[in-house]
Amino acid sequence: MASAAQRREELVALFKEVQACTKCPLHETRTKAVFGAGDADADLMFVGEAPGAEEDRQGLPFVGRAGQLLNQMLKEIGMSREDVFIANVLKSRPPGNRDPQPLEIEACRPYLFEQIRLIEPKVICTLGNFATKLLSGNPAGITRVRGTPQVHELGGRTVFLLPLFHPAAALRTPAVKETLRGDFDLISQLLAGPAPDAPQVEEEEEEIEEAPAPGPPQPADEQLDFFA
Ligand code: URA
Repeated sequence: MASAAQRREELVALFKEVQACTKCPLHETRTKAVFGAGDADADLMFVGEAPGAEEDRQGLPFVGRAGQLLNQMLKEIGMSREDVFIANVLKSRPPGNRDPQPLEIEACRPYLFEQIRLIEPKVICTLGNFATKLLSGNPAGITRVRGTPQVHELGGRTVFLLPLFHPAAALRTPAVKETLRGDFDLISQLLAGPAPDAPQVEEEEEEIEEAPAPGPPQPADEQLDFFA
């Protein structure tokens, strides 16, 4: 297993790679690539969607209004930005803050998985639909899956994935903000509890005759394609 110093060195190399990245056309319109920021050894990672205007200017994630709300919610559970690592699905701003496109997500995906491998978090909170669908490998929408921890193999390790509403949605809708606030309490519980057990993979889907008993969500076979 790589030491913390080695992992940090690799993360710095990855940072430089992202700054110079031209894998998708977004490099032509960005001001600064936004690699992500925080504790390179954090137990808790947040993954948002893509940089907005302010993030693009500063080269840092979640520094606008949504970021302020994220800071506030972290404070309410006794944490701060310095305790976590914050990244995004896309490292470059989509013009006009439009949705990330499939080819952009595909081009940027290896950077995120490398970040997870090198940071070795215990809990990853996905903020909104794009991060949740990418990291869970499941197309279910955020409204259905938020607030229920999942267990996944990501970046070569077993992690808790906790889907949350995106703070930008919480800024628009007070009820979403309250739900997000409630879900944040789960973060503390997951961090304080035992590490997740490796997810169990069903070998042959055809052999399953009955609906599986309720329990922690299992990864679908196609999720494993990410790591093949
Ligand atoms: N929204 C995101 O998803 N990411 C940021 O970095 C800022 C706003």
